[in-house]
Amino acid sequence: MSTETDACGDIVVAIDGPSGSGKSTVARAVAQDLGVGYLDTGAMYRALTWWCLHEGVDVHDRAAVAATMATLPLEVGTDPGEPWVRVGGHDITAAIRKTRISSVVSAVATNLDVRASMRLRQRAIIAESVERSGGCVAEGRDITTVVAPDADVRVLLTASEDARLARRTLEIHGGTDTDSLAATRDQIVRRDRDDSTVSQFVTAADGVVTVDTSALDLHEAIAAVLAVVREHAPA
Ligand code: C5P
Repeated sequence: MSTETDACGDIVVAIDGPSGSGKSTVARAVAQDLGVGYLDTGAMYRALTWWCLHEGVDVHDRAAVAATMATLPLEVGTDPGEPWVRVGGHDITAAIRKTRISSVVSAVATNLDVRASMRLRQRAIIAESVERSGGCVAEGRDITTVVAPDADVRVLLTASEDARLARRTLEIHGGTDTDSLAATRDQIVRRDRDDSTVSQFVTAADGVVTVDTSALDLHEAIAAVLAVVREHAPA
């Protein structure tokens, strides 16, 4: 990919958004363009969920999940060309995308003890990435507001509910017929509703730039975020 954006010095880019806003793909592409690391924080919540199910921990038992988080044997790869997730030595990069994880991840992510611990790990990974590659593009739900509120560039990626639902349905089912749309609705509407009880990713916080991707294709969305990075990156 071309690198028209020359990052001078370290750069941290924080991108938040609801499911189906395109933030993972956009964040990876922006990281590649900048030549820096990429952190998918949602993958970390998904990994904790996978580990709880694997270990027989009830995801609704707040104390048990918080205790599991405290010793979570999690490793994440921050190369935007090939991100991976391992827990307890298991490569779960693909497994954490399954519906059985998506449908319960919010129970784990709305646990405030888990969030406090996750935040520290996420900050440590961002710092390591900056050390190693000169920067990091981190994406999730609370990166612009809680995990990295002092990031050089902060973006809220949004899209209409219809656009997000259609994109996710196409991704999961390969088509957007009525049954597929209904099956995906839980993953978009209900999950975002649950998640928004603990994170603010529907409206932009002060200083956060909103990029609405409803009418943009992927290339246009990447270009729009890169334009924000160029405008706000430190000289
Ligand atoms: O982005 P993704 O859909 O993979 O995120 C999975 C889940 O992780 C979200 O539904 C949310 O519950 C949680 N999450 C979070 N805070 C973040 C990133 C993700 O609570 N920063």
